[in-house]
Amino acid sequence: MELNEAQRIVYQTARRFAAEHIAPQARQRSEDETFPIDVMRRLVEAGLYGGPFPEEYGGAGIDNVSYALICEAIGGASPSVFTSALTVQLSLVGTSIYAYGNEEQRRRWLPEVLSGRLVGAFALSEPNVGSDPASVELTARRANGRWELSGSKFWTSNGALADLIVVFAQTEPGTRHRGMAAFVVDGNSAGLSRQAIKGKLGLHASNLAALYFDGVIVDDDRLLGKVGDGFRVAQAALESGRLSTAACAVGIAQACLDMCVEYARERKQWGKAIGGHQLVQELIADMAIECEAARLLTLRAARARDLGEGATRWVAMAKAFATEAAVRAARNAIAVHGGAGYLSERMVEGYLRDSIGLSLYEGTTQIQKLLVARELLGISAF
Ligand SMILES: Cc1cc2nc3c(=O)[nH]c(=O)nc-3n(C[C@H](O)[C@H](O)[C@H](O)COP(=O)(O)OP(=O)(O)OC[C@H]3O[C@@H](n4cnc5c(N)ncnc54)[C@H](O)[C@@H]3O)c2cc1C
Repeated sequence: MELNEAQRIVYQTARRFAAEHIAPQARQRSEDETFPIDVMRRLVEAGLYGGPFPEEYGGAGIDNVSYALICEAIGGASPSVFTSALTVQLSLVGTSIYAYGNEEQRRRWLPEVLSGRLVGAFALSEPNVGSDPASVELTARRANGRWELSGSKFWTSNGALADLIVVFAQTEPGTRHRGMAAFVVDGNSAGLSRQAIKGKLGLHASNLAALYFDGVIVDDDRLLGKVGDGFRVAQAALESGRLSTAACAVGIAQACLDMCVEYARERKQWGKAIGGHQLVQELIADMAIECEAARLLTLRAARARDLGEGATRWVAMAKAFATEAAVRAARNAIAVHGGAGYLSERMVEGYLRDSIGLSLYEGTTQIQKLLVARELLGISAF
């Protein structure tokens, strides 16, 4: 899993960018719930945006390993920025359009999305639809040679602000994935209303919204692929999203570890640095072991995608392990910091709240485990 020269440079550049431009404002941004559009544009200027998409569509043309390293560096400084600017905008929206869009659709939207000029959102989940996405209830009805979308979406990250939204709809109720279709819908479409969701546990600087479609009209040129491809569009996007989220989780675990090493050297109790107490050393050793294991698994998954190997199992393993490892790392980091870890000014408690969000979105840990076991057994538990 040695990195090549280009990958090392990308990682170092992203780490430097995150330390200079993201980490110093992360706490304030979280308190103010500021959407990171400015950071998105700075990432573009720094040459760190665009992701693993061809340059002809405005992508950076980097491999998945490099993309994962960028996600790790940015996510470790702010999981909220990562959520809005990387996993949703690039992995979910970018991949949906790149994987299933025709040439005209790719040229129309990808350069805008991959440069952050347009903000994108990915609307799959609904009030009654989460882990079982083939059961989407929002309908797309054919009317006068156009499509009419009716229903609602919930949990749409970037949803209240998005300029364009990839919306998953059912064209033939009762047919599950066979009737699913994915459309690219303008955020300012007539009949679409949006409401920010307040009161979430973490990821405060990433926007989350409920969307209401009341007969929103879209033309055929908004359909990605063909009717019946919707489920495949979602799966393609989610595989990239899960890889990026695993990488963000590695960044969180690394950030927690770094903070703990520094704190455990400085803080003294019983006349010596707390890092000299064996149980504190155990907390730190556990964090280091899991962080490194999560990183290796994530890079293995990224490499599987780069090699064009079936990556589903690797990505699901990485997402399940790394996000849960990040939660444990944040929990351990609070333990190492004692009462100081319980205060927001040190960011440690923020990592705990944010990492729990990562273990839920793009498929919960339980769903990732079902994907791993299905690959191994050839038996689906869904
Ligand atoms: C911060 C955040 C951001 C999000 N952003 C987006 C977004 O941008 N776009 C979008 O479409 N969605 C988004 N989501 C929604 C997210 O993808 C769903 O919350 C997630 O897929 C789980 O669905 P659910 O919440 O409906 O839980 P449910 O599906 O109701 O699951 C509840 C529990 O049951 C378990 N469970 C369900 N089915 C099974 C099974 N077959 N076997 C074992 N256990 C099972 C789950 O693991 C979970 O523990 C976001 C969620 C969060 C928290």
